Amino acid sequence: MRYVGHGRTDRGRVRPHNEDCILVEPAHGVFAVADGMGGHAAGEVASRTAIEEIRDALCTDRPADLDAPELLRRAVERSNLGIARAIEAHPEYRGMGTTLVVALFEGDSCWIAHVGDSRAYLVRDGRIDQLTTDHSFVNELVRLGMLSREQAARDPRRNVVTRALGSSQVVVPDIVEVPLSPGDILLLCSDGLNTMVEDGEILSLVRSAGGDPETATDRLVEAANAAGGEDNVSVVVVACQGAPDPEAARRTAPNAAIDPGETSR
Ligand code: CA
Repeated sequence: MRYVGHGRTDRGRVRPHNEDCILVEPAHGVFAVADGMGGHAAGEVASRTAIEEIRDALCTDRPADLDAPELLRRAVERSNLGIARAIEAHPEYRGMGTTLVVALFEGDSCWIAHVGDSRAYLVRDGRIDQLTTDHSFVNELVRLGMLSREQAARDPRRNVVTRALGSSQVVVPDIVEVPLSPGDILLLCSDGLNTMVEDGEILSLVRSAGGDPETATDRLVEAANAAGGEDNVSVVVVACQGAPDPEAARRTAPNAAIDPGETSR
């Protein structure tokens, strides 16, 4: 299979700065979204630092002898340390942090690691499924039965995350493997998309783009802005094209199945 991806990040209509940052590296099968937080422009520093560390760990100097989950664990740890170092060097950044969702494609699978409330979705056979569980205060209340999903979507505390890079020395990502088939579409986003646009609408916008990642990305960002654009919005769409690769399981060289595709930021 080939993986063709496109990404876009946008300030939105209300916020003065864009504190989101994205990574689109189809040649390495690596895509990510980070949503920074912290005053004095520190949110931008946190998300950019996280993304740069992910790029180094999974693209520039990626070890050849590690499996995908271990690569992701180390990459997330490295991102967390990178933010801690930036805070040490610049005490005015204290309190900054970022969410992170990373997708790593290898063979006929994708591994997703996430921390915080940036999401991954899978669009397949006319359905949309959220692959990640938000590490957020309101999601905890939903899980405990104290809040409905509808109430959570409107709750003023919906931006409060319970896990983030930069907030502690050790951060543990959730990691899942997603076996892929041709026609599948993977979507990564910051909460500026899913708080503005409902899942059903996300699904129909992706489907209306006919599998084209650039068209889908543009339509999703425009929909978030048309709905008010209350937050920075970031979207990465990856389309799985072609036939499943029978050699994929035996392949040892990373990224051999990845098509350079197109990329933009
Ligand atoms: Ca956000």
